[in-house]
Amino acid sequence: MNKKKGIAILGSTGSIGTQALEVIVAYPDYFDLQVITAHKNVDLLIEQALKFRPNSVVISDENQYKKLKDALWNEEIHVYCGEDALCQVVESTEVDTVLTALVGYAGLRPTISAINAKKSIALANKETLVVAGALITELAKERGVNIYPVDSEHSAIFQCLTGEFHNPIEKIYLTASGGPFRGYSVDQLSKVSLEQALKHPNWSMGAKITIDSATLMNKGLEVIEAKWLFDLKSEQIDVIVHPQSIVHSLVQFEDGSMKAQMGLPDMKLAIQYALTYPARLKTNFPRFNFMDYPSLTFEQADRKVFKNLDLAYRVMDMQGTAACALNAANEVAVAAFLENKISFLAISELNEHVVEEMTNIISPKYDDFVAIDLAAREITLQKISSL
Ligand code: NDP
Ligand code: MG
Repeated sequence: MNKKKGIAILGSTGSIGTQALEVIVAYPDYFDLQVITAHKNVDLLIEQALKFRPNSVVISDENQYKKLKDALWNEEIHVYCGEDALCQVVESTEVDTVLTALVGYAGLRPTISAINAKKSIALANKETLVVAGALITELAKERGVNIYPVDSEHSAIFQCLTGEFHNPIEKIYLTASGGPFRGYSVDQLSKVSLEQALKHPNWSMGAKITIDSATLMNKGLEVIEAKWLFDLKSEQIDVIVHPQSIVHSLVQFEDGSMKAQMGLPDMKLAIQYALTYPARLKTNFPRFNFMDYPSLTFEQADRKVFKNLDLAYRVMDMQGTAACALNAANEVAVAAFLENKISFLAISELNEHVVEEMTNIISPKYDDFVAIDLAAREITLQKISSL
C-alpha cells in the first residue's frame, strides 16, 4: 500500500478545519493527521488533540499555551505556541499537504513556509492569494508546489479543467448565492442588522466569511483568488448570482463550450477533492435530487449596490499592493461590524476610503505587504474612530 498522506490543518477549530477532520477520519488508510492548530479556542483544540491524536498541536495565542500544555502533558503529542511555531510545524518531513483553513492575513506567512518546504497546499485561506498572489504563485512555481483550491467555486473550476490542460480558458463564471441581502437596494442595506447579516441562506461558515458573503466582498476576494489560481485577466472572470448554490462555477472554452461542476452545497466535497486529487474517494454525502430543484436560476450581480465587488475588480487592475490594502481594511471593518461598532454599509465605505488613501507599491516584496497591511489597518481604525 502507498504511504499515507501526512496532513497539517492550520485552523482545525474553524468551520473548514472541523469539516476537514471529518473527511480525514473517514479514510484512516489514506490520511495521517500530523498537525492541528488554533488561535484562541484552546478547549476545542485539546478535545481534537485527544480525539484525533495528531503528532503536533499549535496554539498561536501564547496566552493559551499553559492550558494546552497542562492538558496534553501526559500524551505523546508535541505542543507548541506562537506564530513562528505555525510556520515551523508545516516544515516537518512527515507533512505532505498543508490545508490552510485559518482565516485572514494570518495565513500568509505559514503558507510561504509550507511552499518553501515544498509541501502541497490545499488552499482555503483565500486572503493569502488576495494579499500576495504574485509572490505566492511565483514561489509555488519556483518550488514546484501545487496549490489545490478548497473554495467551492475554485474547486469547481479546477474540476472542470481536468483533462483540459492544453485548452485555453476563454472565460470563467464564478457563481454567487447573493447572500442574505440579494436584491436589496442601498436604502434597504442601510437598515440591516448584524444578526441578519450572519444568516447565510445556503452555507454555514465562520463569522468573517459570512459577513464577506453578505457584502459580496467574498465574491470580490474570490475573483482575485481566481485570477492567481488560473492565471486570468480581469475581463475573463465574471460573477453570476445563482441563489440555489447548485452550480458551483463554470468554465467557458475557446470553442464556446461550457463546463460546470454541480452538486449539493457541502464544503466537505471540495476539501476532500483538494486532499485526494486526482482520486475521487467514495462518500456517503447526500446525493442531489433534480426534483428538489426543478429550476436553477441565474441573475446579474449588482455591483452598484454591492460596492465591494466592484472595488475588488478595481484593485485587481491596480495591481501591486492595492488588494493587500483592501484585504486589511476589510478585515478591520468586518471585525468592527461584528462588534456592532459600525453599520453594514460602512464596511464598503471604509474599504473604498482605504484603497484611495494608500500608496500602491507596484512590484512589492514580502516586507512591502507587511508594511501595507499594517498601515491600512491603522488608517481603517482611525477612520472608524472618526465616524
Ligand atoms: P473560522 O472563523 O470558522 O475558523 C478560522 C480558523 O482560523 C480557526 O481555527 C481559528 O482559530 C483560526 N484563526 C483565527 N485567527 C487566527 C490567527 N490570527 N492566527 C492563526 N489562526 C487563526 O473560518 P472558516 O473556517 O469559515 O474560514 C477559514 C478560511 O477558509 C477563510 O479564509 C475563508 O475565507 C475560507 N473559506 C471558508 C469557507 C467556509 O465554508 N467556511 C468556504 C470557502 C473558503 P480559533 O478557533 O482558535 O479562533
Ligand atoms: Mg467560495
